[in-house]
Amino acid sequence: MSDIEEHRKKIEEITLEMIKLLKTRTDIAKQIGDAKASLGMTVTDEEREDMLRTQVTNLCKEIDLDQSTALKFLNLLLNESVKVQSDNKQTHLSVFLKAKALEEEGKKIIHLEVGEPDLKPPEEVKTALAEVYDKGYGKYGPAKGITELRDELGYETNHKNIDGDSIMVCPGARFAVYLAINTLLNPGDEIIVIEPAWPAYRDCALNAGIKVRTIKTTLETKWEPSIEQINNAINQNTKMIVLNYPNNPTGKVLPKKLLEDIILTAKEHDLYVLSDEIYSWYTDWAEKIEPYSSLGRESVSLTHYGGDYEKSIITKSFSKSHAMTGFRIGYAIAEPSIIEKMSKLQALSLTNVSEPIQYVALQALKADTSEVTEVIESRLEALVKTAKDIGLEFIEPDGAMYLFAKTKYKNFDATKFSEKLLEHGVAIAPGEGFGDYKEFFRITAIDETKLKEGMTILDSVLKESYE
Ligand code: PMP
Repeated sequence: MSDIEEHRKKIEEITLEMIKLLKTRTDIAKQIGDAKASLGMTVTDEEREDMLRTQVTNLCKEIDLDQSTALKFLNLLLNESVKVQSDNKQTHLSVFLKAKALEEEGKKIIHLEVGEPDLKPPEEVKTALAEVYDKGYGKYGPAKGITELRDELGYETNHKNIDGDSIMVCPGARFAVYLAINTLLNPGDEIIVIEPAWPAYRDCALNAGIKVRTIKTTLETKWEPSIEQINNAINQNTKMIVLNYPNNPTGKVLPKKLLEDIILTAKEHDLYVLSDEIYSWYTDWAEKIEPYSSLGRESVSLTHYGGDYEKSIITKSFSKSHAMTGFRIGYAIAEPSIIEKMSKLQALSLTNVSEPIQYVALQALKADTSEVTEVIESRLEALVKTAKDIGLEFIEPDGAMYLFAKTKYKNFDATKFSEKLLEHGVAIAPGEGFGDYKEFFRITAIDETKLKEGMTILDSVLKESYE
């Protein structure tokens, strides 16, 4: 056998051996996952992973192997474990699906779990829907979106007059997040997610083979991460940090100084900053430059000052600003080179966002949406008041449309509670869907009459179960 043939055989043997090991590894990971679930433990143990990372680094030095490649490979293996162990988590979506099934059986459900404004889109949308056929919108178009809409969005974005080339229209902010993660990062890279967080950042990353480093924030520290936590999570494979303020589920808006420090850290380490600002309208619409100023709070968008950071990607959506969730239209703002990369995947996967919907969105921009903002704000105030009345523990949200709360009861399990509450006709989102927050749950600020009815039931089920 020639040398080359001998080496080939060896590589094939090693590969087959690795596959066998992978199978054993997956089986054991599954068993560990089941054990963790029954003990109420979290799937990811950052400390343990760090220990393993150090061991791999030392081994690389010993056997003279490139560390970055080895650590990327380790990340892929860790991700596989997380995937097999994460199957049975309850999220707002799984509760929503159960609630829908109950409704089909004829049960009445009050939906406090969904993140959807139960308002109608502006009248301009109705008119535009009627016009779109005659206007001739309905053909294939540019992957980034129609020029008129991109230019208009550029102007709309906090009056900064961002160039249309820096904007890309997507079918919802969700897809913009998906595109950013999938086009800017590679398998084995790492992304930092500050929890509690909307689950899609983590799921998109996992799906793309990207390792998620979570930073846990707490009620006690007002849901604020520290720069030290962020620095500790950064290593040579870290490529992106995700920010989402106003936050889903806490409604938190970071103080300006902290946000500036985070951007500075990102710049120092050359990280992408994915800033999901979908709730930025649930503030004071009239004061776009200084949202929240009328409330005496300060909200900062990357478009205000960090827009000049060439590695920032901002996602926004008509879902919340114009109550157009089902229209599936949102957009991303980033440097043209980033937009170019993202639009290639969009072109590959869906050609372009439906042209009629883009036209409708263009017309929707002419609407005065201050009413949407005001309604959501007043519902949020009503939710805060009712939640205080029944003794829930939480930090008052600065924005968005949710309350993330826990109860005074020791060993309270929000997942079990949400299951029981659903039997009584009220759906809430268990905290475990947003990270390691089993004792918390998220409530959406919906129409006040229904909200009060739901909160009264919640209170009585709580008392009945724990007193
Ligand atoms: N980001 C966050 C933080 C969200 O809560 C949601 C939806 N609830 C989205 C993005 C998705 O929005 P869209 O409907 O535009 O896809």
